[in-house]
Amino acid sequence: MTKEQQNVVRFAPSPTGPLHIGSVRTALFNFLYARKNSAKFILRLEDTDTERSKREFEEDILSGFEWLGIYYDELYKQSERTEIYQEYIKKLIDSGCAYVSEEPSGERQSVIRFKNPNKSIRFEDIIRGEVSFDTTELGDFVIAKSENEPLYNLAVVVDDKEMGVTHIIRGEDHISNTPRQILILEALGVERPFYAHIPMILAPDRSKMSKRYGTVSITEYQKQGFLPEAILNYLALLGWNPGGEKEVFKTEELIDLFDINRVQKGGAIFSTEKLRWFNSEHIKLLSKEERDTKLMNFLKSRKNDLPEGLYELIQESESLREAICERTEVFEDVIGLASEGEYDYLLSSPEIDPEKINWKDTPSEQTRSHLDKLIDLLESLDSYEKPEFIKNAVWEYATEKGRGEVLWPMRVALSGKEQSLDPFTIASVLGKLKTVERLKKAKKNI
Ligand code: GLU
Repeated sequence: MTKEQQNVVRFAPSPTGPLHIGSVRTALFNFLYARKNSAKFILRLEDTDTERSKREFEEDILSGFEWLGIYYDELYKQSERTEIYQEYIKKLIDSGCAYVSEEPSGERQSVIRFKNPNKSIRFEDIIRGEVSFDTTELGDFVIAKSENEPLYNLAVVVDDKEMGVTHIIRGEDHISNTPRQILILEALGVERPFYAHIPMILAPDRSKMSKRYGTVSITEYQKQGFLPEAILNYLALLGWNPGGEKEVFKTEELIDLFDINRVQKGGAIFSTEKLRWFNSEHIKLLSKEERDTKLMNFLKSRKNDLPEGLYELIQESESLREAICERTEVFEDVIGLASEGEYDYLLSSPEIDPEKINWKDTPSEQTRSHLDKLIDLLESLDSYEKPEFIKNAVWEYATEKGRGEVLWPMRVALSGKEQSLDPFTIASVLGKLKTVERLKKAKKNI
């Protein structure tokens, strides 16, 4: 494919707020399209609104892209391109397609308006099909505040032309801008790109997806320990699917399957629960080493939110990491559970409620004798390194006497809780001394 024939797409965020999950979906569709079709992918920061555009938001976009693994081929900033816009504004004025308009009211004495030919515009949208607009009602719209202060519609058209953009894939909220942009590009004699307006992400009540419903900032998701590939997977499937039942895809697979023609027209409802499910599925796809590295990096960044000593315990025990990850959809859950006191029994000996220790109607006498036997079996066990070793040591006895009858008091003795990590993992983390000590203490308490 020669350079001239290469398709070009762009994602053009305005750095006026933190990178929003909805924008990431737009970026992702562009990215998938580009990688699938060997097209060029441009990231263009639309920062002509000097009051609202902020450096920190620009950095948020760039670091968000990096974290998500969305990479681009070229990066532009509109604020560095004023001269180019100036040239086009002059050209439009010279050809009579735009004019300096004296304003009787408003904050400025004059602005530059586009001379609307008042015609009907029709275009074929890849997602929405044929769209037509009567542009008469737009009047002579403003395209620049002055020769060196272009407004959105003009800057977009100029850049899309200069950058050779062939496919404009963007949010449906821009569909009403499209006729204005088509009028400008016709006035400039520029070829029309293809348009694909993707449906918005909606909150469950079908309102605009906002903070009110849940987390929208990508940095926040990163802080909560979401996996970037899970976010991309979920967002890709909001409004698009490759057909078939399969839902969990790695980014490479998404690229391979992506087809812009299959993006649906209807708005897509965002569900935090579904995103969490995708995250848990992607945790399962990781190798043990990858998972452990990611978990520990996350916990390190949140060490201050963990009870003292828990981080070190998790770092030391592979089986604890395993058990913790089994009940975790998102790494943040570990912090949540820990702060509710869920793992306190790993750090200090729990209070034991004598009412809770007997399995169903088992008499206390019988529970005491089970604890005695457990103490015996576990005192003579040499290695506590793996939960299986502990399980193997007590399994035969538990099976013979009834697993509930034996393992229930074991769990309560070790954790003080009716629901906890499995007793074998707890014993393995505690080691022999503490395990036996707790069993003895519980026996005394009955
Ligand atoms: N800068 C616009 C925005 O952030 C996008 C422009 C476009 O994609 O045409 O919404």
